[in-house]
Amino acid sequence: MLLIRTNVLKQWRKRMPYLEKKSINTKPSPMKQKIIFSILLLWLGKSHAQQPCDTSYTTDTRILVAYTDKVTDPNPLKSMIQPSIDNMNLAYKNSGINHNARLVRAVRINYTETNDLMKSLYDFREGVVHGTGPFGQLKDLRRCYHADVCVLITKDGKPTGIGWEIGVNRDNAVCAMTSFLLVPRFTMAHEIGHLYGCRHEVALDPNNYPFPYGHGYVFTKLKDKQGHYLHTVMAYGSVANNGVTTYPIPYFSTPNLTYMGLPLGTASKEDNARVINERYSTLKGPVLREAITIDKPDLIKRNQTAEIIAIKQLNHIAGVSYTMEANSTTVFNLQVTSDTDRIILRPGFHAKAGSYFKAQICK
Ligand SMILES: [Zn+2]
Repeated sequence: MLLIRTNVLKQWRKRMPYLEKKSINTKPSPMKQKIIFSILLLWLGKSHAQQPCDTSYTTDTRILVAYTDKVTDPNPLKSMIQPSIDNMNLAYKNSGINHNARLVRAVRINYTETNDLMKSLYDFREGVVHGTGPFGQLKDLRRCYHADVCVLITKDGKPTGIGWEIGVNRDNAVCAMTSFLLVPRFTMAHEIGHLYGCRHEVALDPNNYPFPYGHGYVFTKLKDKQGHYLHTVMAYGSVANNGVTTYPIPYFSTPNLTYMGLPLGTASKEDNARVINERYSTLKGPVLREAITIDKPDLIKRNQTAEIIAIKQLNHIAGVSYTMEANSTTVFNLQVTSDTDRIILRPGFHAKAGSYFKAQICK
């Protein structure tokens, strides 16, 4: 058990007046955590002295993922959540999209699924936007972790994925999906694509709102080595290919790139990469210019993850329970502008043995 108190932090500062430029990592063993923690601080303070801070957390689109307790997989973070984020970033990179997605909180919520994903999404949005209903805690979590987009994963339901609307503002950047084939179908990248304003292929969805060039693209002749017809992330493909099932490739439509020698889209109708690049700042919250205060309890359970970012001060209120269970991960990132800026952890912050905690402070 590792209990971090304000007076301990003061000692760190005395030992490490240069803390504002360094990182702190802990991965305590069950024994002698306090001693190991102190040694790590000193050692890592030196070892990180020459390393620049990774500040990509200020530009990435921040994703909060909630999954219901009906998802039976023992480690959804490893099996479906992080792989979905990785798939999305692969497709972004392949397609010339100029930013990344970043998981900032994965959390399990008790919820009675009804097999109606629309209802689940409605309940989810109530929690995210209004703080009410079975997902009510998500409003505070979204604020604390500064999440731009909130994603719900259920075990079952129909349809298999749904976004709140095609082209939303940040408040309504919520979508839901089932765990079925979540990773191979690029479902998370697809549904978040809808939130940006992307649509399916023209043959399936000729609606041109909000962007006439915002459709997915289907290859009607090109097949992969297994004989599968192919389509980009936002397309379905079955209509254009006369009902033959097609398979997604990790690309969004774009006229600027080719796949196996053929263009991935057209400038007039199929340029989802352009939509996502143009709409990035709409879903992205304001670049953080405020202190974050941890004033609500949070429990980072086993196999869950959390990342907080703040500028100037990250302030944990005394007595507010913030507990990290074993095999959980929490990262605090702070960008500072003066020597008085601080990460302050008071009694109530509790990183249990086997958890991983990192605090990074950058100028
Ligand atoms: Zn869709």
